[in-house]
Amino acid sequence: MSFRILIIEDEAEIADFVIRGLREEGFTVEHAADGDAGWQALRSGPWDAVLLDWSLPGMDGLALLRRFRQAGDDTPVLFLTARDAVSDRVRGLENGADDYLCKPFAFTELLARVRVIARRRDAERSMLLSYQDICVDLASHRAERAGTQLRLTAKEEALLILFLRHAGEVLTRTRIYEQIWDDRYDGLSNALEVHVMSLRRELEKHGPRVIHTMRGRGYVFGDRSLHTAQAGV
Ligand code: CA
Repeated sequence: MSFRILIIEDEAEIADFVIRGLREEGFTVEHAADGDAGWQALRSGPWDAVLLDWSLPGMDGLALLRRFRQAGDDTPVLFLTARDAVSDRVRGLENGADDYLCKPFAFTELLARVRVIARRRDAERSMLLSYQDICVDLASHRAERAGTQLRLTAKEEALLILFLRHAGEVLTRTRIYEQIWDDRYDGLSNALEVHVMSLRRELEKHGPRVIHTMRGRGYVFGDRSLHTAQAGV
């Protein structure tokens, strides 16, 4: 997936050299040259990172940043500023900047900061599994549907994670059993069915059925419309 960066910078020379350099490194970069265009561009996101100049014609960088954060957006913002006084940096960070870089800066330093942000974004993404309104945060073990926390046992959570990783695929009982119970499936135990039923109950408190039984085959996780024809239910 390409990493999309927005740079809001009025000095054409700086903007050009940053844009050229980042594009050469494989990033997708868009540019806005003043505060108002910057605000439009911010709203047209999502972005993976924003490079934001402090002094801009129109709305300045600090005002833009404040507005962006008030709108609830947590996209990483790297502040570019000629102001290197400690109090100015602190103001930037206090208003929601993730990092700052004082002008003049070397491109390699900017690139290093952007890469840190990109790695952090990647790590966050890989910690979150989701399907429509259902998601599991693998780091905090929090599972939600439609914004409400689900109450799941460890086995139910493991089942949900497996289903999320294989949405739309038929998962046989053998495969599920071996992954979750780490044991061979003897076809006799009904532990699997019991756990699937309780997971279903919890999920269906907050939305339509997403775990469909494929008679004689196993289960499919996903939209009912996609599976009813095959499932024959
Ligand atoms: Ca400027």
